[in-house]
Amino acid sequence: MIVDVHSHLFGCPDHFTPDFSAQAGRAHEGEVDLTVRWEEYAATAPEDTRTIVFGGKARLSGLWVDDADVARYAAGHAGRVIGFLSLDPTQPGWQDELRYGHRELGLRGVKLMPMYAGFDPGDPAFDPLWRYASEHGLPVLLHTGTTFVSQAPLEYARPGLADAVARRFPELRMILAHLGHPYEGECLAVIRKHPNVYADVSALHYRPYQLWHALMLAQGYGVWHKLLFGSDYPFTTVADSVAGLTALASVAPPSGLPGLNPDEIQRLIHRDSLALLGL
Ligand SMILES: [Zn+2]
Repeated sequence: MIVDVHSHLFGCPDHFTPDFSAQAGRAHEGEVDLTVRWEEYAATAPEDTRTIVFGGKARLSGLWVDDADVARYAAGHAGRVIGFLSLDPTQPGWQDELRYGHRELGLRGVKLMPMYAGFDPGDPAFDPLWRYASEHGLPVLLHTGTTFVSQAPLEYARPGLADAVARRFPELRMILAHLGHPYEGECLAVIRKHPNVYADVSALHYRPYQLWHALMLAQGYGVWHKLLFGSDYPFTTVADSVAGLTALASVAPPSGLPGLNPDEIQRLIHRDSLALLGL
């Protein structure tokens, strides 16, 4: 079985401002269609794949997906999709959206985008959010790592900001997205410290040298077991992500040094992340 902990629900153009779409086009060399289609996703993932799906909310960057859309999508693929709600805590009403998404829509975790929305996740002002998630067993997937969106403050992309949260809420299960690229070392420092903080390896295989290096560092720190598989669909697919990770096993290391352990790569791809996240 594969658990894909990082997959989006987007509809173009409804969920994006024209500015966001234009910047995505600049970063991806031309028009990108980010509309999610289940058939397309399912065709590139083994049938027993289980997928965590969220939309995303970040007013500053021009992205807003209603949680009801995610709940509908999850209900339409019950048994295969686990829906997470999204919050932009810089905007009024997020407390109501948190309770409604959890209690009424039945969503089972939270996605946050601090850099895209423009907030510091470690700011104690957001402790009610972290406390609710911790007390109700809602895992939080935190976007970490850089972006193409110009107005998103890069200082809130740092995975090290999660350390302050994990120190105050050690029971909370958290996933730092994209291994915090290109701050992978900082991300590994955080997940190594905190038993309930993990990182996903989504959307990294298209920079194979950096991913190889990051996984070598994870191996050196002995934190393979804290890495979770994710795709970042629709930016890429499960099949391409599996192929990209698997290919790293055959990269020859510099002479005299060990390479990546191929068994650990396969264990990462097939990790039962739902159990680790209490789902
Ligand atoms: Zn993503």
